[in-house]
Amino acid sequence: MRTPLVAGNWKMHGNRASNRALLDAVVAGIAGLKAVECTVCVPFPYLGEVAATLASTPLTWGAQNLSEHKQGAYTGEVAAPMLADFGCKFVLVGHSERRQLYGETDAVVAAKFAAALTQGLTPILCLGETLAQREAGSTEEVVFGQLEAVFSMSRKEDFKGAVVAYEPVWAIGTGRTATPEQVQEVHSFLRTGLPQDTRLLYGGSVKKENAAALFALPDVDGGLIGGASLVAGDFIAIVKAAAEAAVARPQRKG
Ligand code: PEP
Repeated sequence: MRTPLVAGNWKMHGNRASNRALLDAVVAGIAGLKAVECTVCVPFPYLGEVAATLASTPLTWGAQNLSEHKQGAYTGEVAAPMLADFGCKFVLVGHSERRQLYGETDAVVAAKFAAALTQGLTPILCLGETLAQREAGSTEEVVFGQLEAVFSMSRKEDFKGAVVAYEPVWAIGTGRTATPEQVQEVHSFLRTGLPQDTRLLYGGSVKKENAAALFALPDVDGGLIGGASLVAGDFIAIVKAAAEAAVARPQRKG
């Protein structure tokens, strides 16, 4: 059974006071929802406080990046054992902003994925095509290549517990959401290459208005939510939409 996951990506936003207010509201807003798992991927400096705030709640927490190295002279980097030390459950790997703005190659992403697994962290592997790649008709080739790079360093079985997030680059933070047809097409393609119990999230301008239609798709197991995860009411509505989609489809098997 693939329990849907809704993961918030706060990106580089927030401060101690606003984080606290946001988390208090989200924890209260999703209390009692059992059919869905919910996590927040927060900036490194806030991990300790977020961990303390969420420790006795159903919400889990994670980071947005990690080093491919375990320790050593890598100034400014944060290693997987450090994230585990803060009780992180998840870590984003290969987010398109990391790939595009910080030059993370498929090989580096694959090494980070493997580094996360060594510490028992669940990597959320982000993949997706640019607008130019979609318009050139190479979406499947691009996402397959991104997946293949990770398969070359980790065993396919390692994906059993992992999470894959399809995030078309042209839909992230742009307000332009992929249509349900576009999402289902890529997800069903990805599904054929992954263990059945790998959760496949969609990310890219998910909002409370479009969440239900996206989460109802047969190969969508939740979402990776950027901007809307910073607004408590919106994030709560999205988590509820995922829970309702799960209840409506109890037959979904891993
Ligand atoms: C993201 O940050 O991964 C993301 C999907 O952002 P947004 O929801 O704002 O498009």
